[in-house]
Amino acid sequence: MDDSKSQSHGHIVMLPFMAHGHLIPFLALARRICRQAPFSVTLATTPLNLRYLRSTISPDDDDSGIRLYEIPFCSSDHGLPPDTENTENLPFNKIVKLFHSSVSLAGPVECLISDITTEEGRPPLCVISDVFLGWSVDIAKRLGTKNIAFTTGGAYGTLAYISIWVHLPHRSTDSEEFSVPGFPEQCRFHRSQLHRYIREADVTDEWSKFFQVQIKLSSASDGWLCNSVEEIEPLGFDLLRKYLKLPVWAIGPLVPSPLLQKSSPISPNSSLKSLQKHSGKAFGVSLAKCQDFLNSHGPNSVLYISFGSQNTISPSQMMQLAIGLESSGKPFLWVIRPPLGFDIKGEFRPEWLPPGFEDRVTKSKKGLLVRNWAPQLDILSHGSTGAFLSHCGWNSIMESLSQGVPIVGWPMAAEQAYNAKMMVEEMGVCVELMRGVESRIEAEEVKRVIELVLEEEGKGGEMKERANAVMGQMREAVKEGSDDEKGSSVKAMDEFVRTVLGDSTNGTFPIEQIRNSIQSAYVNRSG
Ligand code: UDP
Repeated sequence: MDDSKSQSHGHIVMLPFMAHGHLIPFLALARRICRQAPFSVTLATTPLNLRYLRSTISPDDDDSGIRLYEIPFCSSDHGLPPDTENTENLPFNKIVKLFHSSVSLAGPVECLISDITTEEGRPPLCVISDVFLGWSVDIAKRLGTKNIAFTTGGAYGTLAYISIWVHLPHRSTDSEEFSVPGFPEQCRFHRSQLHRYIREADVTDEWSKFFQVQIKLSSASDGWLCNSVEEIEPLGFDLLRKYLKLPVWAIGPLVPSPLLQKSSPISPNSSLKSLQKHSGKAFGVSLAKCQDFLNSHGPNSVLYISFGSQNTISPSQMMQLAIGLESSGKPFLWVIRPPLGFDIKGEFRPEWLPPGFEDRVTKSKKGLLVRNWAPQLDILSHGSTGAFLSHCGWNSIMESLSQGVPIVGWPMAAEQAYNAKMMVEEMGVCVELMRGVESRIEAEEVKRVIELVLEEEGKGGEMKERANAVMGQMREAVKEGSDDEKGSSVKAMDEFVRTVLGDSTNGTFPIEQIRNSIQSAYVNRSG
């Protein structure tokens, strides 16, 4: 055994789902665990996803405990286009195939855990698996270790997502509104918050077959980790724990640490080193150009627009959004991709926007269009950014709220609409502009909402105030120090680590005690 292994507290195997929005927080969690104590972490995924992770990892101290392990995968064996291992750029009708293909990772993962056990003379301390990879629970149990599910989303959105998939509650009513098991009766959900594939799901379709099985398996894990903060969504955590009857550790936000420092936003003369130096993607604009644009506008005045790592909007929505933006007269920075129906990686055509739009907004310095990918963290942490028109992916939400930037919601898929609902109803940091890519949006409505959100007084001012309060809670949560000073996420991470390390005094694994006591508490309560 080499020196690093002999000093290691033990081995943790991590299994992310194959999507950009899952790989990023998994890597961040791996780093967080290694910072906590000298663990050996093996992050296992398919070859192309591994290549992406490798490009984002630095060989410095932060990442030295992380080993990347390649799981063999051949996309064409699963009816996927060649060299496709990630949801990114995958046509919608193929995404379900990618989900199903992830079950094929089970065999190689079982071999990996057996090999670690043989080599180290004991099984890994635990497996941390993506909620979508529920098959790992059985493997962990069989091989004598524990399985912890990691949800890369928030507590409220995750609960809505898993409960709606498992129960399909909208199928038991003709009404547009319905309640969701696990949520109070008065907390109504709306059909328009469901993506087409879940609206039409009936247990026998390929989507249900994947999600119902994997979510139920993950719900039999020994505990869950959640990339969120206890104080920012207390209702979500309370409901999620009651629903799962498991320990749920709120260990977020897993965003790069400079975003959580108390320093003021990037100043006009700040260095040209991106906070996203390891994003693994080429920016469609130089950082200097972004900063020049933002520096030329006043505090909290610019609307940042991005729909995440892989979405775009329909051609008519793009046109109306552009018209609305221009008529609002508010400055904006828009990460733009070809609209739906066109090659999302192809050349951007001017006819997708109103005639002369880009020229006009560039000359008047009102707008900056960034092709495909922007330095999001740098933009959000710049003092000129006043609001974020977002698809409400959880990473984007964490990044935005960590900077006190309120959100204009345009959820599209997954749990995004539930995130938007929570941010509107519980947090008060969001106003919803639109849902999905099928409905029509009017430029007038775009203009109205942008003006409302960017105004200093009234609703805009209130949202900004709430977003600043959430930012404060997020920063408090990650505060290190003595036991009294530690923030809630730091304490939750301590507790998670203590739990997986086990309690040597009585020889039992405390996770079982925690689980039993939670279960009996709920049984007693409901009895
Ligand atoms: N992102 C970025 N630049 C872009 C678009 C996205 O850096 O132009 C990053 C963003 O900072 C976030 C991630 O991509 O970390 C998107 O994750 P999210 O959960 O918001 O959405 P998803 O892509 O999973 O739908």
